[in-house]
Amino acid sequence: MRKFTCPTCDTRLYFENFVCETCSSSLAFDPRTQGFERLDGEESVLACGNRNLNVCNWRKANAEDAFCQSCRLDRTIPRLNDEANVELWRRLEFAKRRVLYDLGRLGLTTPARGDGLELGLAFDFLAAADGNVVTGHDGGLITINLAEADDARREQIRTDLHEPYRTLVGHFRHECGHYLWQRFVVSGEELERFRAVFGDERRDYAQALRDHYARPPEWRTQFVSDYAASHPWEDWAECAAHYLHIVSTLDTFISSPLGAPERAKPVDDPYRESDFDAVLSQWFPLAESLNELNRSMGLHDPYPFVLTPATIEKLRLVQQILRRAAASDATMAHADAVG
Ligand SMILES: [Zn+2]
Ligand SMILES: [Zn+2]
Ligand SMILES: [Zn+2]
Repeated sequence: MRKFTCPTCDTRLYFENFVCETCSSSLAFDPRTQGFERLDGEESVLACGNRNLNVCNWRKANAEDAFCQSCRLDRTIPRLNDEANVELWRRLEFAKRRVLYDLGRLGLTTPARGDGLELGLAFDFLAAADGNVVTGHDGGLITINLAEADDARREQIRTDLHEPYRTLVGHFRHECGHYLWQRFVVSGEELERFRAVFGDERRDYAQALRDHYARPPEWRTQFVSDYAASHPWEDWAECAAHYLHIVSTLDTFISSPLGAPERAKPVDDPYRESDFDAVLSQWFPLAESLNELNRSMGLHDPYPFVLTPATIEKLRLVQQILRRAAASDATMAHADAVG
């Protein structure tokens, strides 16, 4: 993900921003320009219909539209009379927009179902109350179980299934992978190339699973994940998801302070550095980079904190006390050794 800046004051913005923290401008992300635009005054008619619930910060293409390019793809959303549902749905939409951004950056369109001849996209976000919900893709329709947006539930499922990685962004990338297959691989020469590498997708699904469990241990080197081994379609979807993980996170790295470091004063040993401001001047860009890189992988911020002038002074005192303690400890250890 590229670095975004406020069109009014040039402050750094995040993909999730609704307003600029510095100048308080109301902002919306425009998927066509892949940047933020102001949403004040006359422009406010371009706010997506889901903005009032803090669910969407994208800009509509036209004032007459009800929703943005992302929200218009929703066929079913959760019942909103339950505040907990709104929060879970919000998380799904944030992850979905990140993956639609990926597709936009690849130069791929994301037509809605019913838009025209091309296979269109649609999303069903279903809760357990709607019956047995199976996350998956079918002819452009992507279904996601609302429970996946609940961190505790998703982590439980991840543990139960012995998966190393399970995120909302990962789900959207995987299911969009199935969609891309159906739109771009389903016939012609690409299908022949696909079968040569991934195998024949016409194999019986149940038989493919039985074969999978009967395989010798070497099979693992052939697949990007255990789940990829279940069927050529899943293998493709997993590879498509990994491709998006890689280009998205690398793109974030390139535009992050880590990818283009501007080091004022190098810190050789952060533990022993006496200048706390020098430590912080390197920590801030690193923390920002770590957070953004994790978001690209669909993970939580590893450092979800803001250091204020007041808290920085407390940290500075911690450093000073520990440095003085270390100096006296070293003196005592020396005295012990000599004595
Ligand atoms: Zn601003
Ligand atoms: Zn929207
Ligand atoms: Zn799948």
